[in-house]
Amino acid sequence: MQYISTRGKAPALSFEDTMLTGLARDGGLYLPETIPTLAPDEIAALAGVTYEEIALRVMRPFVGDAFPDPEFRAIIARAYRGFDHPARAPLKQLGPNHFLLELFHGPTLAFKDFAMQLIGQLFQAALQRRGERVTIVGATSGDTGSAAIEAFRGLDNVDVFILFPEGRVSEVQRRQMTTPAEDNVHAIALKGDFDDCQAAVKDLFADFDFRDEVRLAAVNSINWARVLAQVVYYFSSAVSLGAPHRDVSFTVPTGNFGDIFAGFIAKQMGLPVADLVIATNQNDILHRTLVSGDHVKQGVTPSISPSMDIQVSSNFERALYYAYGRDSHAVAHEMQALKSEGGFTVSQGALDFLRDTFRSGRASEAETTATIRGVHAATGETLCPHSAVGVKVAEESLGAAPMITLATAHPAKFPDAVEAATGARPPLPNRMADLYDRPERVTPVDNDLSALQTLIRERIAP
Ligand SMILES: *Cc1c(COP(=O)(O)O)cnc(C)c1O
Repeated sequence: MQYISTRGKAPALSFEDTMLTGLARDGGLYLPETIPTLAPDEIAALAGVTYEEIALRVMRPFVGDAFPDPEFRAIIARAYRGFDHPARAPLKQLGPNHFLLELFHGPTLAFKDFAMQLIGQLFQAALQRRGERVTIVGATSGDTGSAAIEAFRGLDNVDVFILFPEGRVSEVQRRQMTTPAEDNVHAIALKGDFDDCQAAVKDLFADFDFRDEVRLAAVNSINWARVLAQVVYYFSSAVSLGAPHRDVSFTVPTGNFGDIFAGFIAKQMGLPVADLVIATNQNDILHRTLVSGDHVKQGVTPSISPSMDIQVSSNFERALYYAYGRDSHAVAHEMQALKSEGGFTVSQGALDFLRDTFRSGRASEAETTATIRGVHAATGETLCPHSAVGVKVAEESLGAAPMITLATAHPAKFPDAVEAATGARPPLPNRMADLYDRPERVTPVDNDLSALQTLIRERIAP
């Protein structure tokens, strides 16, 4: 299986090189040259098997011969052994025909663990075989950074540097990044906001000499291996509810479009998906795009669902690639307009494709809080604010097919918003009850490229 860039000007790569590279050098995102499919009887055969076995069967055609089955099986087993639920991604019923897919049973209590834990093990296996080391650098508004640190801590062939905006992540998120004691973990508090962190990471990657010198690698949500890992739970949940013999729908709280794009891939692979619903908070560029056809940046307004506070939704470029009939020239052109003019108008053909493929909705802050309160009162289930955005939009989108809403984080990760809605502070799971007592280790850094480069060089020096 070969991978090609959405912008058409970077070399095609194998699965392993795509994963180790992250972003293509032409600024595009990698996609498989063709999307493999599973036949209905192969999907039916996923019923009743473990999550790990489903993961193997769903991901294997994309991985090709990069990892032989026995090795891949062992990697998957290591990736998910730290989850505290035997189903890994259990389903709960919220109401008639409406189900919640709990994706927060991993080590950092958010769905990003599904991809990051796997990618940590895949990196380690590939790098050990090659006898190489890499330096992972990432920016985070909270959840990605803690998931990355948790996945790479203590691995021999990797240093991991995570930049977060000083003072702008929740205390749980910060402590998850600053309390791991392993030497290869470096939590960096950047003096700036999340956009400054992302820009700093982009600048590090754009300095090709530095990039090659320290062997930079990216594991942000544009890494193809992360998208792939997320395809698995679309299959596991749909099969639990009767696929392929009946259709199911999904509603996905969306920011960078990685999670919902995984749902799009699942559908392309042959999973019978009726509706794929994009749920945004008040930062609703994706919803506005589907309604109006204009993909235009507005400023980010901080919300109680901070992991969805974005104005540039990176993985949307992958959907655009298909919407524009795989015309990489057109994609490159639109992305250039997004960068230089702050937006573009989606062509009529591409807009028709997007509207056929996705539905969308948004939840205001008040609606999000009301949903947390209402679901808690009606069912006893406590939603995190991101999941509540999903549930609110899903409730407007219920149809004949069962609706599965993705619950992307544990409520205890966002205790203030949850307490404001329900009056009760959600407790952390027992296994991390001592998080507030563990010592923290963090390096404050100015928003300055050369200061960052110096720090990274010093820390990775043998
Ligand atoms: C990252 C994140 C999202 C958004 O996911 P995308 O793949 O960026 O669309 C939603 N909820 C939570 C809790 C997250 O951490």
